[in-house]
Amino acid sequence: MPHAVPARTASSRRRRWRALAYWGIALSLLCGIALAAFAAREWSLRQAFDRLDDTALRQLELYASVLEHELAKQDDLPGLLDVDGDIEALLLQPASRSLGMAASRRLTRFTVRSGMVSTEVVDMAGHILAASDWYEPATRLGATALASPCVRDTLSGGETRHFAAGITGAPEVCLGRVVERAGRKLGAVLIRMSLAPTEATWVDAAFRDDSERPFVTDEHDQIILSAAPPWKGRTLAQVTQLERRLPHGALLVRLSGAPSHTADLFLLHQRPLTRLGWRLHVLASTRQVWRDARTAAWGGGAAAASVGLLLVVVAQRRRVLAQKLAAREALQRANDQLEQKVRQRTAELERTQQDLVQAGKLALLGQLSAGISHELGQPLTALRGLAGNARVLLERHRHGDVAVNLEDITQLVERMGRITAQLKAFVRKSPTPFGPVVLARAVENARQLVAARLAEEQVALLDLVPADLSVVCDGARLEQVLVNLLVNALDALRGAPVRRITVSAHAVDGRAVVQVADSGPGLDPRVRERLFEPFLTTKPAGEGIGLGLVISQHIVHEVGGALRAAHSEVGATFEFDLPLAEEPVKEPTCSTD
Ligand code: ADP
Repeated sequence: MPHAVPARTASSRRRRWRALAYWGIALSLLCGIALAAFAAREWSLRQAFDRLDDTALRQLELYASVLEHELAKQDDLPGLLDVDGDIEALLLQPASRSLGMAASRRLTRFTVRSGMVSTEVVDMAGHILAASDWYEPATRLGATALASPCVRDTLSGGETRHFAAGITGAPEVCLGRVVERAGRKLGAVLIRMSLAPTEATWVDAAFRDDSERPFVTDEHDQIILSAAPPWKGRTLAQVTQLERRLPHGALLVRLSGAPSHTADLFLLHQRPLTRLGWRLHVLASTRQVWRDARTAAWGGGAAAASVGLLLVVVAQRRRVLAQKLAAREALQRANDQLEQKVRQRTAELERTQQDLVQAGKLALLGQLSAGISHELGQPLTALRGLAGNARVLLERHRHGDVAVNLEDITQLVERMGRITAQLKAFVRKSPTPFGPVVLARAVENARQLVAARLAEEQVALLDLVPADLSVVCDGARLEQVLVNLLVNALDALRGAPVRRITVSAHAVDGRAVVQVADSGPGLDPRVRERLFEPFLTTKPAGEGIGLGLVISQHIVHEVGGALRAAHSEVGATFEFDLPLAEEPVKEPTCSTD
Protein backbone atom coordinates (compact mmCIF):
# COMPACT_ATOMS: atom_id res chain seq x y z
CA MET A 1 0.00 0.00 0.00
CA PRO A 2 1.60 3.26 -1.06
CA HIS A 3 0.34 5.34 1.89
CA ALA A 4 1.82 2.89 4.45
CA VAL A 5 5.41 3.88 3.61
CA PRO A 6 5.33 7.54 4.78
CA ALA A 7 3.42 6.48 7.92
CA ARG A 8 6.14 4.00 8.73
CA THR A 9 9.00 6.46 8.13
CA ALA A 10 7.23 9.12 10.25
CA SER A 11 6.79 6.72 13.15
CA SER A 12 10.39 5.46 12.89
CA ARG A 13 11.60 9.07 12.78
CA ARG A 14 9.58 9.78 15.91
CA ARG A 15 11.10 6.70 17.56
CA ARG A 16 14.57 7.87 16.61
CA TRP A 17 13.90 11.33 18.07
CA ARG A 18 12.61 9.80 21.26
CA ALA A 19 15.70 7.58 21.58
CA LEU A 20 17.87 10.65 20.98
CA ALA A 21 15.98 12.56 23.68
CA TYR A 22 16.47 9.69 26.13
CA TRP A 23 20.19 9.61 25.38
CA GLY A 24 20.32 13.39 25.85
CA ILE A 25 18.60 13.15 29.22
CA ALA A 26 20.90 10.32 30.35
CA LEU A 27 23.97 12.26 29.21
CA SER A 28 22.85 15.46 30.98
CA LEU A 29 22.15 13.42 34.09
CA LEU A 30 25.66 11.96 34.00
CA CYS A 31 27.18 15.41 33.39
CA GLY A 32 25.15 16.81 36.28
CA ILE A 33 26.31 14.01 38.57
CA ALA A 34 29.95 14.51 37.54
CA LEU A 35 29.67 18.26 38.03
CA ALA A 36 28.06 17.88 41.46
CA ALA A 37 30.70 15.35 42.50
CA PHE A 38 33.48 17.66 41.34
CA ALA A 39 31.98 20.69 43.10
CA ALA A 40 31.48 18.74 46.34
CA ARG A 41 35.05 17.47 46.17
CA GLU A 42 36.47 20.96 45.62
CA TRP A 43 34.38 22.41 48.41
CA SER A 44 35.38 19.63 50.79
CA LEU A 45 39.05 20.02 49.84
CA ARG A 46 39.01 23.73 50.57
CA GLN A 47 37.24 23.24 53.90
CA ALA A 48 39.48 20.38 54.96
CA PHE A 49 42.67 22.19 53.93
CA ASP A 50 41.59 25.24 55.90
CA ARG A 51 40.94 23.08 58.93
CA LEU A 52 44.18 21.16 58.55
CA ASP A 53 46.06 24.41 58.12
CA ASP A 54 44.59 25.78 61.34
CA THR A 55 45.39 22.60 63.25
CA ALA A 56 48.95 22.42 61.89
CA LEU A 57 49.61 26.04 62.79
CA ARG A 58 48.31 25.51 66.29
CA GLN A 59 50.42 22.39 66.68
CA LEU A 60 53.46 24.28 65.39
CA GLU A 61 52.94 26.91 68.08
CA LEU A 62 52.44 24.24 70.71
CA TYR A 63 55.60 22.34 69.84
CA ALA A 64 57.54 25.60 69.64
CA SER A 65 56.41 26.84 73.00
CA VAL A 66 57.07 23.48 74.69
CA LEU A 67 60.60 23.37 73.23
CA GLU A 68 61.36 26.99 74.00
CA HIS A 69 60.09 26.57 77.52
CA GLU A 70 62.23 23.46 77.97
CA LEU A 71 65.36 25.33 76.86
CA ALA A 72 64.54 28.49 78.80
CA LYS A 73 64.18 26.42 81.96
CA GLN A 74 67.84 25.44 81.75
CA ASP A 75 69.08 28.93 80.95
CA ASP A 76 69.80 29.78 84.56
CA LEU A 77 71.63 26.57 85.45
CA PRO A 78 75.16 27.82 84.52
CA GLY A 79 74.42 30.95 86.54
CA LEU A 80 73.58 28.77 89.54
CA LEU A 81 76.98 27.11 89.35
CA ASP A 82 78.69 30.45 88.73
CA VAL A 83 77.96 31.55 92.27
CA ASP A 84 79.27 28.30 93.72
CA GLY A 85 82.26 28.93 95.97
CA ASP A 86 84.00 25.59 95.10
CA ILE A 87 84.08 26.46 91.41
CA GLU A 88 85.38 29.96 91.95
CA ALA A 89 88.03 28.65 94.29
CA LEU A 90 89.14 26.12 91.69
CA LEU A 91 89.29 28.74 88.95
CA LEU A 92 91.42 30.93 91.19
CA GLN A 93 93.73 27.98 91.96
CA PRO A 94 93.48 25.73 88.94
CA ALA A 95 96.45 23.62 89.95
CA SER A 96 94.91 22.47 93.23
CA ARG A 97 93.99 18.79 92.93
CA SER A 98 91.90 18.83 96.08
CA LEU A 99 89.90 21.83 94.90
CA GLY A 100 89.53 20.11 91.54
CA MET A 101 88.20 16.95 93.19
CA ALA A 102 85.80 18.93 95.40
CA ALA A 103 84.52 20.87 92.42
CA SER A 104 84.10 17.66 90.33
CA ARG A 105 82.07 16.02 93.10
CA ARG A 106 80.00 19.10 93.34
CA LEU A 107 79.35 18.99 89.61
CA THR A 108 78.38 15.31 89.78
CA ARG A 109 75.76 15.99 92.44
CA PHE A 110 74.45 18.97 90.54
CA THR A 111 74.26 17.01 87.26
CA VAL A 112 72.41 14.11 88.79
CA ARG A 113 69.93 16.33 90.57
CA SER A 114 69.21 18.61 87.67
CA GLY A 115 68.96 15.74 85.18
CA MET A 116 71.67 17.08 82.91
CA VAL A 117 74.00 14.96 80.79
CA SER A 118 77.29 16.42 82.03
CA THR A 119 78.78 19.51 83.55
CA GLU A 120 82.35 20.83 83.14
CA VAL A 121 84.44 23.74 84.36
CA VAL A 122 87.17 25.00 82.01
CA ASP A 123 89.80 27.68 82.42
CA MET A 124 90.35 30.41 79.85
CA ALA A 125 92.74 28.13 77.92
CA GLY A 126 90.05 25.52 77.58
CA HIS A 127 91.49 22.97 80.01
CA ILE A 128 88.86 20.94 81.76
CA LEU A 129 89.49 21.55 85.47
CA ALA A 130 86.45 19.73 86.82
CA ALA A 131 83.97 17.34 85.26
CA SER A 132 80.83 15.61 86.51
CA ASP A 133 82.03 12.33 84.94
CA TRP A 134 85.36 12.42 86.71
CA TYR A 135 84.87 8.84 87.80
CA GLU A 136 84.33 7.43 84.31
CA PRO A 137 87.29 5.89 82.57
CA ALA A 138 86.55 7.96 79.50
CA THR A 139 86.33 11.19 81.42
CA ARG A 140 87.79 14.19 79.69
CA LEU A 141 88.96 15.68 82.97
CA GLY A 142 92.37 17.26 82.36
CA ALA A 143 91.92 17.40 78.58
CA THR A 144 91.51 20.51 76.45
CA ALA A 145 88.02 21.28 75.32
CA LEU A 146 88.78 23.97 72.75
CA ALA A 147 87.68 21.61 69.97
CA SER A 148 84.11 22.10 71.08
CA PRO A 149 82.54 25.13 69.40
CA CYS A 150 80.39 25.61 72.47
CA VAL A 151 83.51 26.01 74.63
CA ARG A 152 85.21 28.28 72.09
CA ASP A 153 82.16 30.50 71.66
CA THR A 154 81.55 30.69 75.42
CA LEU A 155 85.12 31.69 76.21
CA SER A 156 85.13 34.34 73.52
CA GLY A 157 81.57 35.55 74.00
CA GLY A 158 80.51 35.04 77.60
CA GLU A 159 77.29 33.11 77.27
CA THR A 160 76.20 30.64 74.62
CA ARG A 161 73.98 27.79 73.70
CA HIS A 162 74.86 25.16 71.18
CA PHE A 163 73.41 22.10 69.75
CA ALA A 164 75.51 19.02 69.68
CA ALA A 165 75.09 15.37 69.07
CA GLY A 166 76.14 13.50 72.16
CA ILE A 167 78.50 10.55 72.22
CA THR A 168 75.61 8.16 71.57
CA GLY A 169 74.19 10.44 68.88
CA ALA A 170 71.50 11.62 71.25
CA PRO A 171 70.47 15.26 70.75
CA GLU A 172 72.12 17.53 73.24
CA VAL A 173 72.28 21.24 73.94
CA CYS A 174 75.37 22.80 75.40
CA LEU A 175 74.87 25.80 77.65
CA GLY A 176 77.97 27.78 78.49
CA ARG A 177 78.67 30.71 80.75
CA VAL A 178 81.88 32.60 81.55
CA VAL A 179 82.75 33.02 85.22
CA GLU A 180 83.94 36.56 85.91
CA ARG A 181 85.34 38.11 89.02
CA ALA A 182 85.99 41.83 89.21
CA GLY A 183 85.85 42.23 85.46
CA ARG A 184 88.32 39.38 84.93
CA LYS A 185 87.31 36.24 83.08
CA LEU A 186 88.35 33.21 85.15
CA GLY A 187 86.96 30.44 83.03
CA ALA A 188 83.58 28.98 82.09
CA VAL A 189 80.89 26.54 83.21
CA LEU A 190 79.52 24.26 80.52
CA ILE A 191 76.38 22.16 80.94
CA ARG A 192 75.15 19.56 78.49
CA MET A 193 71.49 18.81 78.57
CA SER A 194 69.72 16.13 76.56
CA LEU A 195 66.73 16.77 74.25
CA ALA A 196 66.22 13.01 73.90
CA PRO A 197 63.09 12.94 76.13
CA THR A 198 61.48 15.72 74.09
CA GLU A 199 62.38 13.96 70.88
CA ALA A 200 61.05 10.68 72.29
CA THR A 201 57.60 12.24 72.82
CA TRP A 202 57.66 13.47 69.21
CA VAL A 203 58.57 10.06 67.86
CA ASP A 204 55.90 8.48 69.97
CA ALA A 205 53.26 10.97 68.79
CA ALA A 206 54.29 10.53 65.15
CA PHE A 207 53.45 6.83 65.34
CA ARG A 208 49.82 7.73 65.83
CA ASP A 209 48.15 7.83 62.49
CA ASP A 210 47.79 11.15 60.70
CA SER A 211 49.29 13.23 63.47
CA GLU A 212 51.78 15.99 62.76
CA ARG A 213 55.48 15.29 62.53
CA PRO A 214 57.59 18.03 64.07
CA PHE A 215 61.33 18.46 63.38
CA VAL A 216 63.96 21.13 64.01
CA THR A 217 66.64 22.41 61.62
CA ASP A 218 69.71 24.32 62.81
CA GLU A 219 71.29 27.39 61.26
CA HIS A 220 72.91 25.16 58.61
CA ASP A 221 69.48 23.87 57.63
CA GLN A 222 70.33 20.45 59.06
CA ILE A 223 67.74 18.43 60.86
CA ILE A 224 68.90 18.09 64.45
CA LEU A 225 65.75 16.99 66.20
CA SER A 226 63.03 14.99 64.52
CA ALA A 227 59.92 12.90 65.06
CA ALA A 228 61.41 10.69 62.34
CA PRO A 229 64.91 9.73 63.62
CA PRO A 230 66.27 8.68 60.18
CA TRP A 231 65.90 12.30 58.94
CA LYS A 232 68.46 13.57 61.42
CA GLY A 233 71.62 14.97 59.90
CA ARG A 234 69.89 15.55 56.55
CA THR A 235 68.65 18.87 55.14
CA LEU A 236 65.04 19.87 54.60
CA ALA A 237 65.56 19.73 50.83
CA GLN A 238 66.82 16.17 51.13
CA VAL A 239 63.84 15.04 53.13
CA THR A 240 60.97 16.78 51.30
CA GLN A 241 60.09 17.82 47.76
CA LEU A 242 57.97 20.86 47.21
CA GLU A 243 54.76 19.83 45.42
CA ARG A 244 53.05 23.20 45.27
CA ARG A 245 52.44 26.36 47.21
CA LEU A 246 48.84 26.70 48.42
CA PRO A 247 46.94 29.99 47.93
CA HIS A 248 47.16 30.94 51.61
CA GLY A 249 50.94 30.42 51.80
CA ALA A 250 51.28 26.91 53.20
CA LEU A 251 53.51 24.50 51.32
CA LEU A 252 52.37 21.17 50.04
CA VAL A 253 55.30 18.74 50.04
CA ARG A 254 55.97 15.11 49.32
CA LEU A 255 58.46 13.04 51.30
CA SER A 256 61.48 12.26 49.15
CA GLY A 257 61.30 8.74 47.81
CA ALA A 258 57.61 8.33 48.59
CA PRO A 259 55.41 7.03 45.76
CA SER A 260 53.79 9.84 43.78
CA HIS A 261 50.37 9.43 45.27
CA THR A 262 48.25 12.30 46.49
CA ALA A 263 47.50 10.68 49.83
CA ASP A 264 51.19 10.99 50.78
CA LEU A 265 51.26 14.76 50.55
CA PHE A 266 51.97 16.83 53.64
CA LEU A 267 51.27 20.38 54.61
CA LEU A 268 54.50 22.04 55.77
CA HIS A 269 54.52 24.90 58.28
CA GLN A 270 57.59 26.37 59.90
CA ARG A 271 58.68 29.12 62.22
CA PRO A 272 61.99 30.28 63.80
CA LEU A 273 62.75 29.36 67.40
CA THR A 274 63.83 32.40 69.40
CA ARG A 275 67.51 32.92 70.33
CA LEU A 276 68.70 29.61 68.96
CA GLY A 277 68.80 30.40 65.25
CA TRP A 278 66.87 27.10 64.71
CA ARG A 279 63.63 26.55 62.86
CA LEU A 280 60.78 24.31 63.93
CA HIS A 281 58.85 22.55 61.15
CA VAL A 282 55.62 20.65 61.30
CA LEU A 283 54.46 18.21 58.59
CA ALA A 284 50.74 17.49 58.67
CA SER A 285 49.42 14.53 56.69
CA THR A 286 46.72 15.33 54.13
CA ARG A 287 45.52 11.72 53.99
CA GLN A 288 42.26 12.53 55.81
CA VAL A 289 41.70 15.56 53.56
CA TRP A 290 41.68 13.39 50.43
CA ARG A 291 39.57 10.78 52.14
CA ASP A 292 36.98 13.44 53.10
CA ALA A 293 37.08 14.88 49.56
CA ARG A 294 36.40 11.42 48.12
CA THR A 295 33.47 10.91 50.46
CA ALA A 296 32.12 14.37 49.62
CA ALA A 297 32.42 13.64 45.88
CA TRP A 298 30.46 10.42 46.28
CA GLY A 299 27.90 12.24 48.40
CA GLY A 300 27.55 15.10 45.90
CA GLY A 301 27.23 12.64 43.01
CA ALA A 302 24.64 10.58 44.85
CA ALA A 303 22.63 13.69 45.78
CA ALA A 304 22.73 14.91 42.17
CA ALA A 305 21.69 11.46 40.94
CA SER A 306 18.74 11.40 43.37
CA VAL A 307 17.61 14.89 42.36
CA GLY A 308 18.06 14.03 38.66
CA LEU A 309 16.10 10.80 38.98
CA LEU A 310 13.40 12.61 40.91
CA LEU A 311 13.16 15.19 38.12
CA VAL A 312 12.99 12.43 35.52
CA VAL A 313 10.22 10.67 37.46
CA VAL A 314 8.29 13.95 37.88
CA ALA A 315 8.73 14.78 34.17
CA GLN A 316 7.58 11.29 33.21
CA ARG A 317 4.50 11.58 35.40
CA ARG A 318 3.68 14.97 33.93
CA ARG A 319 4.05 13.54 30.42
CA VAL A 320 1.73 10.63 31.22
CA LEU A 321 -0.74 13.07 32.77
CA ALA A 322 -0.59 15.33 29.73
CA GLN A 323 -1.16 12.33 27.46
CA LYS A 324 -4.14 11.27 29.54
CA LEU A 325 -5.52 14.79 29.40
CA ALA A 326 -5.02 14.99 25.64
CA ALA A 327 -6.73 11.61 25.22
CA ARG A 328 -9.61 12.77 27.39
CA GLU A 329 -9.91 15.98 25.39
CA ALA A 330 -9.86 14.05 22.11
CA LEU A 331 -12.56 11.75 23.47
CA GLN A 332 -14.58 14.75 24.60
CA ARG A 333 -14.20 16.34 21.15
CA ALA A 334 -15.27 13.13 19.44
CA ASN A 335 -18.18 12.89 21.86
CA ASP A 336 -19.20 16.50 21.18
CA GLN A 337 -19.05 15.91 17.43
CA LEU A 338 -21.09 12.76 17.81
CA GLU A 339 -23.65 14.54 19.96
CA GLN A 340 -23.88 17.34 17.45
CA LYS A 341 -24.39 14.80 14.67
CA VAL A 342 -27.04 13.04 16.73
CA ARG A 343 -28.75 16.39 17.34
CA GLN A 344 -28.64 17.16 13.63
CA ARG A 345 -29.99 13.73 12.72
CA THR A 346 -32.67 13.99 15.40
CA ALA A 347 -33.74 17.38 14.06
CA GLU A 348 -33.79 15.98 10.53
CA LEU A 349 -35.78 12.99 11.72
CA GLU A 350 -38.22 15.24 13.54
CA ARG A 351 -38.61 17.33 10.42
CA THR A 352 -39.20 14.19 8.36
CA GLN A 353 -41.68 12.92 10.91
CA GLN A 354 -43.49 16.25 10.93
CA ASP A 355 -43.61 16.17 7.14
CA LEU A 356 -44.94 12.63 7.34
CA VAL A 357 -47.60 13.67 9.84
CA GLN A 358 -48.50 16.56 7.60
CA ALA A 359 -48.71 14.25 4.57
CA GLY A 360 -50.94 11.93 6.59
CA LYS A 361 -53.18 14.86 7.50
CA LEU A 362 -53.53 15.88 3.89
CA ALA A 363 -54.24 12.27 2.90
CA LEU A 364 -56.92 12.09 5.59
CA LEU A 365 -58.29 15.38 4.42
CA GLY A 366 -58.56 13.93 0.90
CA GLN A 367 -60.42 10.95 2.29
CA LEU A 368 -62.70 13.25 4.24
CA SER A 369 -63.27 15.73 1.41
CA ALA A 370 -66.47 13.97 0.22
CA GLY A 371 -67.91 14.13 3.71
CA ILE A 372 -66.80 17.72 4.23
CA SER A 373 -68.31 18.94 0.94
CA HIS A 374 -71.51 17.17 1.92
CA GLU A 375 -71.37 18.76 5.37
CA LEU A 376 -70.85 22.25 3.90
CA GLY A 377 -73.11 21.66 0.84
CA GLN A 378 -76.17 20.93 2.98
CA PRO A 379 -76.15 24.23 4.93
CA LEU A 380 -75.26 26.09 1.71
CA THR A 381 -78.36 24.76 -0.02
CA ALA A 382 -80.37 25.61 3.07
CA LEU A 383 -78.83 29.11 3.14
CA ARG A 384 -79.77 29.72 -0.47
CA GLY A 385 -83.38 28.64 0.22
CA LEU A 386 -83.61 30.70 3.44
CA ALA A 387 -82.15 33.78 1.68
CA GLY A 388 -84.72 33.44 -1.16
CA ASN A 389 -87.55 32.97 1.36
CA ALA A 390 -86.39 36.06 3.29
CA ARG A 391 -86.54 38.23 0.14
CA VAL A 392 -90.13 37.05 -0.62
CA LEU A 393 -91.16 37.60 3.03
CA LEU A 394 -89.61 41.13 2.96
CA GLU A 395 -91.59 41.99 -0.18
CA ARG A 396 -94.73 40.82 1.63
CA HIS A 397 -93.68 42.82 4.73
CA ARG A 398 -93.74 39.73 6.93
CA HIS A 399 -90.94 41.05 9.11
CA GLY A 400 -91.49 38.58 11.96
CA ASP A 401 -90.92 35.62 9.64
CA VAL A 402 -87.83 37.37 8.14
CA ALA A 403 -86.33 37.62 11.63
CA VAL A 404 -86.93 33.85 12.22
CA ASN A 405 -85.29 33.13 8.84
CA LEU A 406 -82.24 35.27 9.66
CA GLU A 407 -81.87 33.48 13.02
CA ASP A 408 -81.79 30.12 11.13
CA ILE A 409 -79.19 31.59 8.71
CA THR A 410 -76.98 32.69 11.64
CA GLN A 411 -77.08 29.18 13.18
CA LEU A 412 -76.19 27.58 9.82
CA VAL A 413 -73.27 29.97 9.32
CA GLU A 414 -72.03 29.22 12.88
CA ARG A 415 -72.13 25.53 12.15
CA MET A 416 -70.15 25.99 8.93
CA GLY A 417 -67.65 28.18 10.79
CA ARG A 418 -67.11 25.41 13.37
CA ILE A 419 -66.41 22.89 10.61
CA THR A 420 -63.84 25.11 8.88
CA ALA A 421 -62.19 25.99 12.25
CA GLN A 422 -61.75 22.28 13.02
CA LEU A 423 -60.27 21.62 9.58
CA LYS A 424 -57.87 24.53 10.01
CA ALA A 425 -56.66 23.28 13.39
CA PHE A 426 -56.31 19.77 11.99
CA VAL A 427 -54.16 20.86 9.05
CA ARG A 428 -52.03 23.30 11.08
CA LYS A 429 -48.39 22.33 10.55
CA SER A 430 -46.46 23.39 13.63
CA PRO A 431 -47.43 21.40 16.71
CA THR A 432 -49.00 23.40 19.53
CA PRO A 433 -47.36 23.17 22.96
CA PHE A 434 -48.57 20.35 25.17
CA GLY A 435 -51.24 21.31 27.63
CA PRO A 436 -54.20 19.88 29.46
CA VAL A 437 -56.94 18.80 27.05
CA VAL A 438 -60.46 17.68 28.01
CA LEU A 439 -60.66 14.22 26.44
CA ALA A 440 -64.45 14.27 25.88
CA ARG A 441 -64.11 17.55 24.02
CA ALA A 442 -61.51 16.13 21.65
CA VAL A 443 -63.75 13.11 20.99
CA GLU A 444 -66.67 15.42 20.25
CA ASN A 445 -64.55 17.47 17.78
CA ALA A 446 -63.47 14.30 16.01
CA ARG A 447 -67.03 13.08 15.88
CA GLN A 448 -68.11 16.29 14.20
CA LEU A 449 -65.47 15.81 11.53
CA VAL A 450 -66.90 12.40 10.59
CA ALA A 451 -70.51 13.33 11.36
CA ALA A 452 -71.51 13.41 7.67
CA ARG A 453 -70.23 9.86 7.12
CA LEU A 454 -71.82 8.59 10.34
CA ALA A 455 -75.18 9.93 9.18
CA GLU A 456 -74.83 8.79 5.61
CA GLU A 457 -73.67 5.27 6.44
CA GLN A 458 -76.07 4.98 9.38
CA VAL A 459 -73.42 4.21 11.91
CA ALA A 460 -74.17 4.72 15.58
CA LEU A 461 -71.42 6.34 17.65
CA LEU A 462 -71.56 5.54 21.34
CA ASP A 463 -69.56 8.11 23.32
CA LEU A 464 -68.71 6.69 26.78
CA VAL A 465 -65.88 9.10 27.59
CA PRO A 466 -66.22 10.63 31.11
CA ALA A 467 -66.49 14.43 30.98
CA ASP A 468 -63.88 15.02 33.76
CA LEU A 469 -60.89 13.25 32.16
CA SER A 470 -58.13 15.63 31.05
CA VAL A 471 -54.90 14.58 29.35
CA VAL A 472 -51.57 16.29 28.60
CA CYS A 473 -51.07 16.44 24.82
CA ASP A 474 -51.37 18.50 21.65
CA GLY A 475 -55.16 18.75 21.19
CA ALA A 476 -55.11 18.92 17.38
CA ARG A 477 -52.98 15.81 17.15
CA LEU A 478 -55.15 13.91 19.59
CA GLU A 479 -58.13 14.69 17.32
CA GLN A 480 -56.12 13.47 14.35
CA VAL A 481 -55.60 10.11 16.07
CA LEU A 482 -59.28 9.85 16.98
CA VAL A 483 -60.41 10.80 13.44
CA ASN A 484 -58.01 8.19 12.00
CA LEU A 485 -59.44 5.45 14.22
CA LEU A 486 -63.04 6.54 13.52
CA VAL A 487 -62.44 6.61 9.75
CA ASN A 488 -60.86 3.13 9.89
CA ALA A 489 -63.85 1.90 11.89
CA LEU A 490 -66.27 3.50 9.40
CA ASP A 491 -64.40 1.84 6.53
CA ALA A 492 -64.59 -1.54 8.28
CA LEU A 493 -68.32 -1.16 8.97
CA ARG A 494 -69.20 -0.81 5.30
CA GLY A 495 -71.78 -3.53 4.61
CA ALA A 496 -71.66 -4.82 8.20
CA PRO A 497 -75.01 -6.01 9.65
CA VAL A 498 -74.55 -4.10 12.91
CA ARG A 499 -72.93 -0.70 12.48
CA ARG A 500 -71.79 0.68 15.81
CA ILE A 501 -68.67 2.46 17.06
CA THR A 502 -67.99 2.79 20.79
CA VAL A 503 -65.50 5.34 22.15
CA SER A 504 -64.66 4.87 25.84
CA ALA A 505 -61.93 5.99 28.28
CA HIS A 506 -60.82 5.24 31.85
CA ALA A 507 -57.95 6.31 34.16
CA VAL A 508 -55.25 3.79 35.21
CA ASP A 509 -52.10 4.70 37.20
CA GLY A 510 -51.99 8.36 36.19
CA ARG A 511 -52.82 7.62 32.56
CA ALA A 512 -55.99 7.76 30.50
CA VAL A 513 -56.65 4.68 28.35
CA VAL A 514 -58.85 5.48 25.32
CA GLN A 515 -60.57 2.70 23.34
CA VAL A 516 -62.26 2.88 19.90
CA ALA A 517 -64.19 -0.32 19.16
CA ASP A 518 -66.33 -1.20 16.17
CA SER A 519 -68.73 -3.99 15.31
CA GLY A 520 -67.06 -4.67 11.97
CA PRO A 521 -65.41 -7.89 10.69
CA GLY A 522 -62.30 -7.37 12.88
CA LEU A 523 -58.62 -7.38 11.93
CA ASP A 524 -57.30 -9.76 9.34
CA PRO A 525 -54.64 -11.87 11.20
CA ARG A 526 -52.05 -11.12 8.47
CA VAL A 527 -52.74 -7.40 8.76
CA ARG A 528 -52.59 -7.53 12.59
CA GLU A 529 -48.93 -8.69 12.46
CA ARG A 530 -47.84 -5.76 10.28
CA LEU A 531 -50.39 -3.22 11.43
CA PHE A 532 -47.93 -0.34 11.92
CA GLU A 533 -45.96 -0.81 8.72
CA PRO A 534 -46.17 2.31 6.53
CA PHE A 535 -48.27 1.98 3.36
CA LEU A 536 -49.85 -1.27 4.46
CA THR A 537 -53.45 -1.08 3.39
CA THR A 538 -56.24 -3.47 2.41
CA LYS A 539 -58.43 -0.68 1.04
CA PRO A 540 -59.02 -0.14 -2.67
CA ALA A 541 -56.73 2.31 -4.53
CA GLY A 542 -57.72 5.92 -3.91
CA GLU A 543 -59.22 5.15 -0.49
CA GLY A 544 -56.39 4.03 1.73
CA ILE A 545 -52.68 4.86 1.73
CA GLY A 546 -51.57 2.85 4.79
CA LEU A 547 -50.27 5.80 6.83
CA GLY A 548 -53.09 6.43 9.31
CA LEU A 549 -52.02 3.99 12.02
CA VAL A 550 -48.30 4.79 11.55
CA ILE A 551 -48.89 8.52 12.10
CA SER A 552 -51.28 7.90 14.98
CA GLN A 553 -48.78 5.61 16.69
CA HIS A 554 -46.10 8.30 16.31
CA ILE A 555 -48.34 11.01 17.80
CA VAL A 556 -49.18 8.84 20.82
CA HIS A 557 -45.47 7.99 21.22
CA GLU A 558 -44.64 11.69 21.47
CA VAL A 559 -46.50 11.94 24.79
CA GLY A 560 -45.00 8.70 26.08
CA GLY A 561 -47.96 6.50 25.23
CA ALA A 562 -48.54 3.51 22.94
CA LEU A 563 -51.17 2.65 20.35
CA ARG A 564 -52.10 -1.01 19.92
CA ALA A 565 -54.86 -3.30 18.62
CA ALA A 566 -56.60 -4.67 21.71
CA HIS A 567 -58.19 -8.08 21.87
CA SER A 568 -61.94 -8.05 21.26
CA GLU A 569 -64.67 -10.67 20.75
CA VAL A 570 -66.48 -8.66 18.08
CA GLY A 571 -65.00 -6.35 15.45
CA ALA A 572 -61.76 -4.47 16.03
CA THR A 573 -60.72 -2.47 19.09
CA PHE A 574 -57.86 0.02 19.10
CA GLU A 575 -56.58 1.57 22.34
CA PHE A 576 -53.96 4.11 23.34
CA ASP A 577 -52.85 5.76 26.58
CA LEU A 578 -51.97 9.36 27.45
CA PRO A 579 -50.68 11.06 30.61
CA LEU A 580 -53.47 12.38 32.80
CA ALA A 581 -53.43 16.13 33.55
CA GLU A 582 -53.10 16.79 37.30
CA GLU A 583 -56.14 19.06 37.43
CA PRO A 584 -59.09 18.74 35.11
CA VAL A 585 -59.64 21.81 32.93
CA LYS A 586 -63.01 23.44 32.61
CA GLU A 587 -62.61 24.96 29.18
CA PRO A 588 -61.47 23.13 26.03
CA THR A 589 -58.04 24.23 24.89
CA CYS A 590 -57.65 22.25 21.74
CA SER A 591 -58.97 22.36 18.27
CA THR A 592 -59.78 26.05 18.38
CA ASP A 593 -57.44 28.63 17.01
P1 ADP B 1 -55.43 2.96 5.62
O1 ADP B 1 -56.59 3.27 6.45
O2 ADP B 1 -55.00 4.07 4.72
O3 ADP B 1 -55.45 1.64 4.97
P2 ADP B 1 -54.26 2.56 8.21
O4 ADP B 1 -52.88 2.56 8.66
O5 ADP B 1 -55.19 3.47 8.86
O6 ADP B 1 -54.23 2.86 6.65
O7 ADP B 1 -54.85 1.12 8.31
C1 ADP B 1 -54.14 0.00 7.82
C2 ADP B 1 -54.99 -1.22 7.66
O8 ADP B 1 -55.42 -1.75 8.86
C3 ADP B 1 -56.22 -0.99 6.93
O9 ADP B 1 -56.05 -1.01 5.49
C4 ADP B 1 -57.06 -2.14 7.41
O10 ADP B 1 -56.81 -3.31 6.64
C5 ADP B 1 -56.61 -2.38 8.79
N1 ADP B 1 -57.56 -1.76 9.73
C6 ADP B 1 -57.40 -0.58 10.38
N2 ADP B 1 -58.45 -0.36 11.17
C7 ADP B 1 -59.28 -1.41 11.06
C8 ADP B 1 -60.55 -1.77 11.65
N3 ADP B 1 -61.21 -0.99 12.53
N4 ADP B 1 -61.12 -2.97 11.30
C9 ADP B 1 -60.49 -3.78 10.41
N5 ADP B 1 -59.31 -3.49 9.81
C10 ADP B 1 -58.71 -2.32 10.13
